[in-house]
Amino acid sequence: MINLDHNATTPLLPEVRDAMLPCLWEVQGNPSSPHSAGTRAKQMVGEARTAVAALVGGKAPEIVFTASATEANHLAVLGALRAVVVAEPGRRGFVTSAVEHPSTLLLAEDLAAQGWPVTVLPVDGEGRLSLDDLAAAVGPGTALVSLLWANNETGVLMPVAGAAALAHAAGALFHTDAVQAAGRVPVSAAAVDADLLTLSAHKMHGPKGAGALWVRKGTALHPLIHGHQERKRRGGTENVPAIVGFGVAARLAAEGVAAGIGADMARLRDRLEQGVLARCPGAQVNGGGAERLPNTSNIRFTDAAGRPVEAEALLLRLDRAGIQVSMGAACASGGNAASHVLTAMGLSPDEAAASLRFSLGRLTTDSEVDAVLTELPPLFARLAA
Ligand code: PLP
Repeated sequence: MINLDHNATTPLLPEVRDAMLPCLWEVQGNPSSPHSAGTRAKQMVGEARTAVAALVGGKAPEIVFTASATEANHLAVLGALRAVVVAEPGRRGFVTSAVEHPSTLLLAEDLAAQGWPVTVLPVDGEGRLSLDDLAAAVGPGTALVSLLWANNETGVLMPVAGAAALAHAAGALFHTDAVQAAGRVPVSAAAVDADLLTLSAHKMHGPKGAGALWVRKGTALHPLIHGHQERKRRGGTENVPAIVGFGVAARLAAEGVAAGIGADMARLRDRLEQGVLARCPGAQVNGGGAERLPNTSNIRFTDAAGRPVEAEALLLRLDRAGIQVSMGAACASGGNAASHVLTAMGLSPDEAAASLRFSLGRLTTDSEVDAVLTELPPLFARLAA
């Protein structure tokens, strides 16, 4: 199979698997136990914590391991809101964007339904957020601003540094979900001046079921799950094999970014994108006018009369040809709802349903791109006709 669906998940790298396997069998201690088996497990979790922190330029004690980035986003938003409200009861506002991952957006809807003052900011036709809109939305009642670092469907980058500055000027905290950015572009929590930053192991060739929230030293955070682990910020015995795998994946991600894998992916992505546009008349890149991640291309297909082509049919035919792509987010695929990201960018539901996401990885090759450029155009031509 040719995997062009890395924004859904990434395959384990062999080094990650090799580090995890002993934790399933030889190292079985509970990191909280005082005996040698526990101490060994604790040491391995500690090494992983240092590696995950280093990926975003942080320190080990700033990392809270969770069971997913979905959980880390919940901990960031609910944990920060609760802590801020306790300190300053008049500050309850939550500001986010219309193109967030559902783990943030559905939470925002839930908070609004419970009476929290929630503002969901729009984006323009390229998926870009305006800092003027953000400046108008934040004020003395704002507790937290949360924005993606990079959108998972289009790869469009958010103005996170500017957003953090505006949040801080209003006395609010700033959280960013950097799940899709980490391992693809340099991600520094300090450079952006973030207070909270979310990561997921399985988007950087680590295992599923491991996430992390980087919490700037001194930032008050109310736990969602009580317990003594993770400095009382997230209870529950640590998932040692997954965390160890996460640590190795984070180290390899940092090394890869430093070695320029972003530029390699961008070259392949651009070749794929230009090749598809040249061979499929009417095709357009959603968010193509914005600054994007180097690995993501979201392409909308139309027929000869300019009508949207059913991308699901194209996806299924590509799958039969051994090529994996996606429509919108992985979790939305298979459902009938139009992508909330593309509709927020002004696409009609039919145009959104005519769009495919191609997301490359560090292992994607030129010959894989060639294969897509050979297989896709005739499938498209048949559907367009
Ligand atoms: N945030 C973004 C931007 C994502 O793309 C995803 C996964 O698709 C998540 C959060 C959730 O990650 P996890 O699968 O670890 O819960």
